[in-house]
Amino acid sequence: MTTLSEMPQVRQCSVESCGYNHDVSCHAGAITVGGESAACGTFIDISFKGGLDMVGHVGACHRSECAYNTSLECTATEVRVGPGRDVADCLTYSPRS
Ligand code: SF4
Repeated sequence: MTTLSEMPQVRQCSVESCGYNHDVSCHAGAITVGGESAACGTFIDISFKGGLDMVGHVGACHRSECAYNTSLECTATEVRVGPGRDVADCLTYSPRS
């Protein structure tokens, strides 16, 4: 079983409209990435701030064609999230060569 400390940290998230974002930092316990553009499925545009008193991690990723993806888990050291094709995308996504 993967522990939280083994999951990649969300090093930076620039989507400040997200309820989990405090000062350009993700505070969700664990995000899920997926969709055609590696969208952050945990993003929520809401009028208040929530989350945990810790930096968020990548809990699961459905982008199996990303070079960092093994068995639907992210193996990157850390990821960055920000606007891409969607409001909040994993900017660390890298297609396998
Ligand atoms: S780096 Fe790749 S495997 Fe990791 S969360 Fe982003 S898209 Fe998923």
